[in-house]
This record gives sequence, structure tokens and C-alpha cells, in this order.
Amino acid sequence: MKTIRTFKRVLVANRGEIAIRIFRACKELGIRSVAIYSEEDKNALFRSKADESYRIGKGKSPVDAYLAADEIIELAKAKGVEAIHPGYGFLSENVAFAKACEEAGIVFIGPTHEMMERLGDKIQSKLAANQAGVPTIPGIEKAIETKEDAVKYAEACGYPIMLKAAAGGGGRGMRIVRNRKELIPQFLSAKREAKKAFGIDDIFIEKYLERPKHIEVQVLGDQYGNLVHLYERDCSIQRRHQKVVEFTPAICLTKEQRQRICRDALKLAGAVNYRSAGTVEFLVDEYGGHYFIEMNPRIQVEHTVTEMTTGIDIVQSQILIAQGYPLNSEELNIKGQESIEPRGYAIQCRVTTEDPIHGFAPDTGIITAYQSASGFGIRLDGGNAFTDSEISPYYDSLLVKVTAWSRSFTDAADKAMRALREMKIKGVKTNAPFLMNVLNHPDFRTGSCDTGFIADNPKLLN
Ligand code: ADP
Repeated sequence: MKTIRTFKRVLVANRGEIAIRIFRACKELGIRSVAIYSEEDKNALFRSKADESYRIGKGKSPVDAYLAADEIIELAKAKGVEAIHPGYGFLSENVAFAKACEEAGIVFIGPTHEMMERLGDKIQSKLAANQAGVPTIPGIEKAIETKEDAVKYAEACGYPIMLKAAAGGGGRGMRIVRNRKELIPQFLSAKREAKKAFGIDDIFIEKYLERPKHIEVQVLGDQYGNLVHLYERDCSIQRRHQKVVEFTPAICLTKEQRQRICRDALKLAGAVNYRSAGTVEFLVDEYGGHYFIEMNPRIQVEHTVTEMTTGIDIVQSQILIAQGYPLNSEELNIKGQESIEPRGYAIQCRVTTEDPIHGFAPDTGIITAYQSASGFGIRLDGGNAFTDSEISPYYDSLLVKVTAWSRSFTDAADKAMRALREMKIKGVKTNAPFLMNVLNHPDFRTGSCDTGFIADNPKLLN
């Protein structure tokens, strides 16, 4: 039995570029969009892109305002909102929030809270992958309780190892340990960092892979058990375990490797009966073996590249799935895996207000002049990139995502270069020169870069 619950109003519990991205999807679906904003964001552009906006988080810190779960749900109820889209970051992976939405009769646009619970903990999700027959990085799939256990398990695993926070995200609570001497101080500092960031300090151990590639698969599932993948993205260009440039397809993969990775992504998503948009992340080692690391139950920053090659609007898909439409409905129009035929190549560059010459220190102030790039094959997703915009120190330094599409990888890279050159930003420093160095690097052009690429090439910073 398919029940469709039509949304008239959707609240977006987020800010900046992703809030605007979701408002646009709502508008195109004929849904009224509701924004929330903190005191610090009262002049932010995203507010004006929604049909209505409400201030939240009085007396709270700039970040905590967007984490005020009870207040956001109360507001949603008071304004007659049927559903909340959490975007990425903030409350997007908060199980208690998803549950509270469900209990308040508001649809959380994402998977169910039970699925989030199962996937949010990296130890649990690795166990689910093992059970589903999806390879994972060898390690100890349980929280390490004591220093003695840390020593014992690290030795059993064999150095170098990676200490990881079970609740991890954004590279926090993650440490590479190369020998016993480093272990205890790193274990204790990872625990402290995890406690501060997530409130949970469970740390587990896995083998540290030298120079892997990060390959992830976008999946989409409806409420009736239908599941498809939208192929892979190569997110190996990272700085301190954070993605900087992402592209699709991953040109280093053979057809067989691609098939195996996408098949395993579906296996895992199927095993947890996944619904909505999600991303299954793998590391690929130098021998071409792939290993599951985690599944993200939310929209990701880099979803744009997949949209460009598949033509599928992933945010609209999330909203339609949450309303109860099956994948093969007129509205979603995804008639099975075979109907998904990616075309061409897409590359996304994250332009941030950071100064690459000074250790990527965030820069703040007023953008005194801004000229955007445009033209065939260029897509921009931004939140605060315009003349007179104030870049505050309170939030993420992402300014605008520049996504280039073309019929070959080289042409897409050339097009991204052209767009970055065309873009003029005065008043605050950005990482654009660094992004251009990445795009121009001969190794980038072969698609072979691994996660060590930026650290190994300090010249990229000049
Ligand atoms: P987070 O959720 O904090 O972003 P992930 O588990 O997604 O952390 O890992 C982020 C990045 O850290 C990966 O893309 C990879 O570069 C690196 N990484 C994670 N686990 C390992 C590992 N076992 N060996 C080597 N690198 C790793």
C-alpha cells in the first residue's frame, strides 16, 4: 500500500549554501520553504531565499542555535510544517532529533531514526557490512576500554594503525599511530577530542592504509524496498581527511572494479533496508581492493557532481521519497538501475574563505567585490558569495562550490580552471589559487591521486 503525504511546507534546519539548495528543490516541487536563522545570520542571504524565515536560538551560541532541536520542532509545529530537511552537519545525523520529529508527527527527510542509529556508529556499521559480506578494513570492531587493551589490540592489528571515534565525523577523533610509543598519548587525545565533539568517546582501531583512494557510492532508496545506486565519486583529494575536490566518474577504476564497489554499496544499503539518499564510503588500496569505512545517511556536500552526470536531482528525490513516492513513480521517474545512465564528467571544487599561504587560516570580513563565473557546464552553489557580504568567523568557511561538467575529464578540469579564473573575489582571501594548482597538476589530470596527494605536494599551496 502506497500512502502519499503531500508536503505544503518544509522547514530547512540548516543555513548557507545547503539551505538555499533545499529551498530551490522545494520551490521546483511547489512546496513552501521555511528558513530558520541565528542572530549572527540575520543578514545572511539564505534567509531571503526561503518563503518565510524565523529567528531561533536566542541566548545560544551561533552554532548551538542550529542545534536547538526542541525549539525547531516547536516552531515547525506552530507554523504547520509537515516535514524538516536537516541538510548536512548540524542535526542531520542526530538520532534523537529524527526520533523527536517522528514523535511530533513531522516527517524527517532522511532515513528512519533506527537506520540512522545503526549507521551513525562506525563500529555498528562495520559489523553490518561484515554481516552483509561487504569487505571492511581489518581492525577491532569494538570500543577500546583501557590503555592496556589499546596496546593489546594495536599489536594484534599491527602498526601502523588508525584510531577512530565510533561517533566520528569531519575527521575528528581520528589519529594515525605508527608505533607503540605514540599509542597511549594518541589514544587519550582521540578520546578527549571525540568526547568534546560528539559527547561519546568510544574509540576503535583499524589498520591504517597507506595512500588509499576514497571512493564513495551514492544510493537512493524508497519506502518500499526499491534501491538504486547513482554510481561513484572520487573524493581522494583531501586535506587533513577533509574533501577538497571531488569528481565522478572515478577514472582510475576499471569497469569491473566500479561494478564490484557499486554492487557492495547496494548490498550494505539493502541489508539495512535503507531509504532516502545515502552515501556508502570505501577506501581502495594500492592493489585495487575496496573496503567499506562508513555510510552517511544524509545529503553530502559533493552530491552536485552526481546530479550533473546522472541528471537526477538528489534533493528533490529525498523530498519525494519522504512524501511516499516510489522510485518508479511519475514524480521520481527512476525506472530501475538500468535507467540510470551517467553522461560525461563532473568536478566540484570547494572554494573557501581560507588563506592557503598561511596554513588555511579562515579569513573574515566584507567581500568588497564579487564577480561570479558562469557559462556552459558551470554550476555554482553558494550561500554568501556576493558583493558586501559579511564573512563571519562563526561558521564553516565554505563560500561557493564550483562544479564543472564536460564530455571528457580533461575538458571538465579545464572548464573548472576557467571558472575559477573568471571568478573575482576581493576583501577576503580564498583558497582559489590552491584549487587551480590542484586542477593543473599532472597527477590530478590522470585521476590517480590518493589521499596523500595534498600533504605530499607542498608546492600546491603557493
Ligand atoms: P569522518 O567520518 O570523520 O569524515 P571517515 O571514516 O569518513 O571519517 O574517513 C575520512 C578520511 O580519513 C578517509 O577518506 C581517509 O582519507 C581517511 N581514513 C579513514 N580511515 C582510514 C584508514 N583506516 N586508513 C587510512 N586512511 C583512513
